[in-house]
Order: sequence, then C-alpha cells, then structure tokens
Amino acid sequence: MPLVDIASILDGEHDGEEVTIRGWMYNHRSSGGIQFLMVRDGSGVIQCTLPRDRVPEETYKRVEKLPLESVVELKGVVKVDERAPNGRELSITEVVNLWEAQPGYPITRKRHGVDFLLDHRHLYIRDPKMQAILRIRSKVLEAARDWLREHGYTETHSPSFITAACEGGSTLFSVDYFGRKDVYLTQSWQLYAEALIYTLGKIYTIAPSFRAEKSRTRRHLAEYWHLEVEEPWTDLWGIMKVGDELVTHICHRVAEEMSRELKSLGRDPKELLRLEPPYPRITYDEALEILRKDGIELEWGDDFGWREEEPLTRHFDTPFWVTHFPIGVKAFYHKPDPKRPEVTLSADMLAPEGYGEIIGGGQRIDDYEELLTRIVEEGLNPEDYSWYLDLRKWGSVPHSGFGLGVERLIMWICHLDHIRDAIPFPRDVRRVFP
Ligand code: ATP
Ligand code: MG
Repeated sequence: MPLVDIASILDGEHDGEEVTIRGWMYNHRSSGGIQFLMVRDGSGVIQCTLPRDRVPEETYKRVEKLPLESVVELKGVVKVDERAPNGRELSITEVVNLWEAQPGYPITRKRHGVDFLLDHRHLYIRDPKMQAILRIRSKVLEAARDWLREHGYTETHSPSFITAACEGGSTLFSVDYFGRKDVYLTQSWQLYAEALIYTLGKIYTIAPSFRAEKSRTRRHLAEYWHLEVEEPWTDLWGIMKVGDELVTHICHRVAEEMSRELKSLGRDPKELLRLEPPYPRITYDEALEILRKDGIELEWGDDFGWREEEPLTRHFDTPFWVTHFPIGVKAFYHKPDPKRPEVTLSADMLAPEGYGEIIGGGQRIDDYEELLTRIVEEGLNPEDYSWYLDLRKWGSVPHSGFGLGVERLIMWICHLDHIRDAIPFPRDVRRVFP
C-alpha cells in the first residue's frame, strides 16, 4: 500500500488501486451513513468517502467529530467518479492514523472579509485557491530559470541595501544603516546589472525589489519579486524578442503542467497555449492615438496612469509592447533614440484583459558623455553615480535589459483580481503582519 501524492491520484496514476495518503482535513460533511472528507497534501486536494459500515463504529464517530485541519492518514481505493470535485475520490478502507487539531479553526466555509483573511494569512494560504496559485508561482519561476539557463544566461545577484536610486526617489524606502541615513532598499538591480554584464555576459536575477507605493492599488506591492535580465550586444528589438520568448515559454509550461490548477482558478489553459511570439508592438504615439479614438486624452509626454493603461489592454488579446516612451517618463539610464532624441529606446510589455504592465525595459545609454548629461539633466548628483559612470569608460558596449514583475505575471496568468494573492505574505502600505 504505497504512500502516494494526491496529485498522482488526480492525474490517474492509481485508478482502481489501494493506496495510502497523508494530509490535512480542510473540509468535512456527513450525510446519512457516509462522511465526505476533503483532504489536502502539498500536491492537491481530494475527496475521501467513509461509509459507516466500513470501519469500527468508534473510529467512525471519532472521524465525525474531527476538527478541521486535523491530520489524517488514510488507506483507500481510488475511484473515478465524475461527481467528485476533481473527478476522482478515495473510498476509505482503513483509517490508519489521526492527529487531532484543536477545535475552532478560524477559517470556515462562510464568507470572510478581506481583512479577516489577511489577518489570518498564515492559515489562509492553506485554502485550495491559494494552494493552486502558489504551486503555479513555483512553476512560473522554474520555467523562467529553465529558459534562461538553456539560452545561456547566468544567474547572479545584487545588493538590497543601496545608496543611489535608479527608479526615482518617490518610492524609496529609507533604512537606518548602522546610523547612516542615506541608505535605501533597492527598487531594481539595474545599476549593478550593468556592472555585472562586463564580467558575466548575459545575466538574470530573481530577487525582491522594494517600492514605497503610497497609493493603494490592485497592482502594487511594497515588496515584490523582480525577474531582471541584462545583456551586452543587444538593442531594444533584441531585448523585446527575449521578453516575448521568455513569457511565451513560461505560459506554455504552466498551461502544460498546471492545467488542473489553472482551471480551478477560472483560466482556460488553451488561452495560454495559443500564445506565440512575437507579440504586437505599438509606439507610445500610436497608443495615444488609440486612446484618443476611445475618447481618452493624454498630453504627449505624460506617463500612462491606470486610466490609460486599462482601456489600452482591452484592444489586445495577447500581451503586447508599447515602445518609445518620452524621455521624461523613463529613468535617466534609458537611451534616447538617436533618430528622435525626445523619445527613448524603451518598451513596456502589457498583459491583456485589463491587467496592464508586466515588464519595463529597453536599451541603456552606453556613452559616457551622454550618460553624464542625462544624470545632470535629471538633477542627480554625478558623484552618487561615479562607479556607474566608470562602466562607460572601460569596455562599454550597447546593452539592454528588462524587469518583469513576477506577481504581475502570475496575477494575469491566474486571472486574479488582486496582486496580493500572487505572493504568500503580501506587503503593502497597510500591512506587514503576519
Ligand atoms: P507601474 O507603472 O505599474 O508602477 P513601473 O513603471 O514603476 O510600474 P518598473 O520600474 O518598470 O515599473 O519595474 C519593472 C516591473 O516591475 C514592472 O513592469 C512591474 O511588472 C513590476 N512592478 C513595478 N512596481 C511594482 C510594485 N509596486 N508591485 C509589484 N510589481 C511591480
Ligand atoms: Mg511604479
């Protein structure tokens, strides 16, 4: 009687066999002479049935009184049954072991408010919906790493404590660094990545970034996971191709290997499987034109807010790029277009269906004088960026990169209403607990 994963049962690997499972009882009901236990392990959830005459009366009664989140070890026969929530159930033949939880598990089947569930996040992550999302999250990162490794990228890391901002001062978190007050949490690995390409070539990182986002939105966390890529010898078009292929690969892998989880979240895996690179590309100017036809006016030179981004995503049914943003809306290191210096060689990838930006990136300035000019123009102190300027003195070449918001991508893939569910313990302006 092998101990098996619930996922392997749901995948049809044990139909008709007697197996043993071990897991947490997250739901329980009885009707007439039969009990239905929903049991969860790290891999999935299965319904288990226990008819009264199957086990000693004493055991039956103990199971009946078992508080939620008790741990059970059950032996049973796998039955294919379309009425069961996941198409298969375990017909219990023996209750092997029970570890009784305390009564009063706070999360019940009644609807709880958002704040209640966030206060109980340490328990709510056991919910099957959260379990499905977190398993998909793991697959997204696995698929990304696989693609990057297969394409010759080296994983590397940059510090989280920094002194020079790369994405503007308004979202910097200050920290007390051994009494120093000019130290911040990183918003991106950007500046360090540009140093690392000259020793490692094509590189990537998957690490937390921190943004003090004061406004409450459905798409911003104070701490999020940032998948960043940087590479030498690559221009704007080259880096968009990398983004296209990486996102497509991730979507295909998740669709192929996580279809049960996707369906449970209301996402049809076919919608991800049909994605093919390259994704559509429009310029900032063209985006303004599309918006104008929708009756939304944005002055040239202003950044997109949600008022612009959301309706724009309704025009596409795959991710798409917006390129050539005005110089004023992008950070100082973006390379101005030599043919039209008022715009940058920049590109954001937006997810369709009202989700919006998942990637920001582009080509970086590789010339010393041009970079120094931009730093001064932006009112920054060149001394703060002395080491970054050094990179343009010795061996500078055209280079490009991007940052992908891991939770933004997961939010779209999983069709979530709010970014907080794409990460186990979200951090935002109102919450650092639990
Ligand atoms: P937005 O305009 O949506 O705030 P941004 O332009 O500030 O994004 P970038 O600085 O380009 O974002 O960061 C790269 C990527 O990191 C974004 O495309 C997005 O996917 C992700 N990202 C940025 N800020 C956050 C945040 N506060 N929470 C979660 N993800 C974020
Ligand atoms: Mg932002």
